[in-house]
Amino acid sequence: MSISCRVRTLVSDSETDTLSSGVIVVGQLVTGTSEQIFGTDTLKHLASALASMQAARYYGEDDLRLESVPKPTIGPGEVLVNLQAASICGSDINYLTGKTDPATEPVTLGHEGAGIVEAVGPGVETVTQDDRVVIHYVQSCGGCRPCNEGNDNRCRHRNSIGHHVDGTFAEYIAVPERAVLPLPDEVSFGEGSITGCAVSTGYHAVHVADVRPGDCVVVFGAGGVGLHAILWASRLGAGTTVAVDLDDRQLEAAAEYGADVLVNPDTDDVTDRVLEVTDGWGANASIECSGSPQAMAQAIDVLTGQTHYESGTAVSVGIQTEPMSVEYTDIREGQLRVSGDHNRAELGEILRLLSRGAVDVSPTITHEVPLEDIHAGVETVMARDEQVGRVIVDLTG
Ligand SMILES: [Zn+2]
Ligand SMILES: [Zn+2]
Repeated sequence: MSISCRVRTLVSDSETDTLSSGVIVVGQLVTGTSEQIFGTDTLKHLASALASMQAARYYGEDDLRLESVPKPTIGPGEVLVNLQAASICGSDINYLTGKTDPATEPVTLGHEGAGIVEAVGPGVETVTQDDRVVIHYVQSCGGCRPCNEGNDNRCRHRNSIGHHVDGTFAEYIAVPERAVLPLPDEVSFGEGSITGCAVSTGYHAVHVADVRPGDCVVVFGAGGVGLHAILWASRLGAGTTVAVDLDDRQLEAAAEYGADVLVNPDTDDVTDRVLEVTDGWGANASIECSGSPQAMAQAIDVLTGQTHYESGTAVSVGIQTEPMSVEYTDIREGQLRVSGDHNRAELGEILRLLSRGAVDVSPTITHEVPLEDIHAGVETVMARDEQVGRVIVDLTG
């Protein structure tokens, strides 16, 4: 189709960018196809700037809206990812039930995701168009002291995807280059998605717990994070791994992930069982993933055995949303630690292990919903009236 248009001759890339931002420029009248007048690249910029996409946006407690929003555009150092899969995390449920709040409102929820790079901005070096990638929801600067020490999860300039900035419950996401890692061909987008949080949070917690070969490790809460803490503890050398959960179906899943001992506190005394399997000495490490203050108190208790001098490490992973009190005299040297988000290096290590087939995280994925049914997916996670691992949001539609 031939069109006529008044244009100013474009003389630099920066002016092309200006044009793609929607600034009207007027000058000489020319006639031709749109490609001849504007050039293919400029038209792509314009199409991208004007395009829209579907996203699930948080507007407050119990208020998640599926909306049409502008497709994100990228600048220098940024990557545009066409998301293929996301997954629903307990943190998203905490937002929707009002237990915690995202830092920004409204915001596109979701921090676990994987997809295909559609475009990269100037200066991006580590990924290119069509690369498969996992989203690292920690946006870090790469230059501050914690970043330089490998603790980008503690970056002084950190933003979290799906919390401070728009997340992965959308068809596209624009992120800094440091917020993606290559996804090996052997790993599916769904597996890549859960690796960005549930799998890696459990991995980090096992590191924080300093699990050593032969240790007895007790994991409280066999949900998405807890199952992977069990998986990594057993793969990284624990002698005995104990899973504690109120739901027998989750305990069955824990057994598949390597738990040697299954304890339901409704019917069994957790500390007694731990003492039984440790010859009365107590656990070397406990990892609390449920967010229950009672479970955290028990996680401290299972470390104490026949003497009050030997001590293990209690690691709090599940977000405690209520105040918790502990008897000071029940705590020993070195016992209490908090494990937060994984770091970039750990995510890379896990992806390498997955690509080699060293672990299989796919059994955790028990449900899948398209983006338009995300409310049903959220309800599935909340209802827990069946065995629920990770619910994948299929974004390929
Ligand atoms: Zn998560
Ligand atoms: Zn930093």
